[in-house]
Amino acid sequence: MKYRIIVHYAELALKGKNRKDFVKRLRKNIRRKVVSLGHDWEVKSIHDRLFVEVGTAPAEVAEQAVESLSGIPGIAWLSHVHWFDEQKYRFLRAQPDMQPIHDIISELAQKTYQPGKTFALDVKRSDKNFRINSNDLTIQLAQTIADNSNWRDVDINHADQYFYVNISSRGTAVHTNKIHGTGGLPVSSTGRVLTLLSGGFDSPVAAWLMANRGCNVDFIHFSASHHNLKDLEAYKITRIVRQLSTVLGRTRLYVVPYTHFDMALMEHGLAYDLILFRRFMARVADAVMQRIEAKALVTGDNLGQVASQTLENIDSMNRAIQTPILRPLITYNKEQIIEHSNRLGLFDMCCEPYKDCCALISKNPRTKSKASLLEKLEENHLPDYDEIMNDTLAEMTEVVYNFGELEHIKATNE
Ligand code: ATP
Ligand code: MG
Repeated sequence: MKYRIIVHYAELALKGKNRKDFVKRLRKNIRRKVVSLGHDWEVKSIHDRLFVEVGTAPAEVAEQAVESLSGIPGIAWLSHVHWFDEQKYRFLRAQPDMQPIHDIISELAQKTYQPGKTFALDVKRSDKNFRINSNDLTIQLAQTIADNSNWRDVDINHADQYFYVNISSRGTAVHTNKIHGTGGLPVSSTGRVLTLLSGGFDSPVAAWLMANRGCNVDFIHFSASHHNLKDLEAYKITRIVRQLSTVLGRTRLYVVPYTHFDMALMEHGLAYDLILFRRFMARVADAVMQRIEAKALVTGDNLGQVASQTLENIDSMNRAIQTPILRPLITYNKEQIIEHSNRLGLFDMCCEPYKDCCALISKNPRTKSKASLLEKLEENHLPDYDEIMNDTLAEMTEVVYNFGELEHIKATNE
């Protein structure tokens, strides 16, 4: 018997080459995360699942790793399992030796017993050559649990504690807890996007949703003032990116002060300042996207959540650049967003007050705008637009995290 972490992936609809690439990518991402946790465990792809070979690592260490790995996009569920190799135990023989399975089930039953709770067995026989059918095995193992522990009450549909036995032609996995992953696709399988990151709840969740569809996600933040490189690590935005990188892997954050644009706009006191700013952010981001070869811009916009998030303003922003702008939260309600934020360990961080962002935004932003009018305003009132953009880009700072570890902070014009 040995210990392994078994990883089941989602997206059963994937076929052919897509599926092969998916598995390869997921395996690589899991291996990188394992290394970032300080382990040298091998990750193997066997048949339709992955195995992390935890060797002799203590159960608590392996279970902690399961918890950390569960946030990696592309995983349906995973579990720390007791594994019996078929060759060694000859489960497929006319009279397989089932004693080791009964022993482990007894041990797990004793360990997990909770008074007043219910249990159930979930036995699967994916190899039909196996001589005992899953119903008979379930009855035998339930008897073992009753004989060797205090578990009494069974609830097949909603048990408090499940015991899983999965028999395949390669071996048998026995385990208790199944930790659910987030499903989706592994990061790096669909392309790179750049996310407009502000200090609120929405944009980090939008970024994560894109990562969970297989994107590499980088970030850009427009700040009201300049920052000392030394202080940037403690900055709210940087901490949000660091936290996200623990599941996204290598992630870049670009911090750009919008002081040049702010000053140019202030002179005119334009009513459309918010949407003009959005168009400015899109254009600067577009320039960064060319550099990093990102294929789409992502925002945390949510239709009607605040007065300025209207279809008209979305259209005005879209028309500022050619690159597509994706808004994964457009139909979400606040509860769904907060739920994601909590799961990502970001809720408290996003609640922190943040003064450095959006001082520019009007109290009563225009809810309707037209790209043609905005173009005229830009032409007439911001004749030095290109210069403002260049000055802004020249003051950009790059912060890079890899699975929560800082790689570097540096000015991009160095
Ligand atoms: P969030 O919760 O992400 O702050 P919000 O509900 O506060 O969003 P707005 O402030 O209207 O909404 O911003 C809408 C979107 O515009 C944000 O989700 C983000 O993608 C982008 N955005 C706003 N301000 C900035 C900024 N200073 N830097 C980068 N992106 C920004
Ligand atoms: Mg905001």
